[in-house]
Amino acid sequence: MKIFTTANELRQYLVQLKASGAAINLVPTMGALHQGHLSLIQEAQRRGGAVICSIFVNPKQFNDPKDLELYPRPILDDIKKLEQINCDILFNPAVSELYADNESWHLNIGELEGMLEGKFRPGHYQGVTHVVHKLFDLIKPDTAFFGQKDYQQFMVISHMVAEMNFPVNLVMCPIQREPDGLAMSSRNIHLTPDDRQHALILSKTLHWVKQNFNPNNIQRLKHDAEKAIRDEPGVELAYFEIADGDTLHSADNNTKKIVALVAAKVGKTRLIDNVLIG
Ligand code: AMP
Repeated sequence: MKIFTTANELRQYLVQLKASGAAINLVPTMGALHQGHLSLIQEAQRRGGAVICSIFVNPKQFNDPKDLELYPRPILDDIKKLEQINCDILFNPAVSELYADNESWHLNIGELEGMLEGKFRPGHYQGVTHVVHKLFDLIKPDTAFFGQKDYQQFMVISHMVAEMNFPVNLVMCPIQREPDGLAMSSRNIHLTPDDRQHALILSKTLHWVKQNFNPNNIQRLKHDAEKAIRDEPGVELAYFEIADGDTLHSADNNTKKIVALVAAKVGKTRLIDNVLIG
């Protein structure tokens, strides 16, 4: 695997690679890689071409400095995992490599920025679009892969790509789960054994809503789901929403594509999860 830490070296290497006709696939991550991340790389490999995984803990998308400080950064383990699955390129820049001092531009991403995750994490999607814009601009990938796990993030990035006319194809890959249903996340290592058990209420409730979905009973389902999560010890619900999968507005009985989304603090760890319905 080729490892680049500077934008210039990566750019030069990509000139040759693109000249050889290889399609460029990008999988942006913040590292602490698990099977969720690896599944994105494997999907990229299935489609052919070269696969670049970026690992960059993006300070601009953390609204809580403590969260940024505690974010796991096991880079040597990550390199091993990427080598084991034959990833072609790792791009692992320092913060100063991607950002100039006092960079102040940002994108207007419309109402999505202030909904659900955006409401609870002010500035988060500004930070996400800032870094993904930089990565797209530097790498100019043909295709970029993101997880359904961060459903709203995928919507925000699609929005940015459409508005900026980036010539990139976006692929959303399914959520990878532990055998008991917990969505894989780099943050799961912060869960205590008790938290780990309590955290299951999130995937269980999403599954229950999907199983019991009835378009004429959305408010009742939402209410019962919220209650089930609030009743779980050690879990502090941020939101549970049954939404239109294209707009994230609350779903009604005419909505075609529905997604149920949840965010909650389990012990000290904030988790998100979602499920597509129908
Ligand atoms: P992160 O390192 O958390 O920024 O995630 C990098 C990419 O991996 C994002 O596109 C996430 O949506 C995706 N991802 C994270 N967890 C999972 C998972 N459990 N299943 C599928 N994709 C995931």
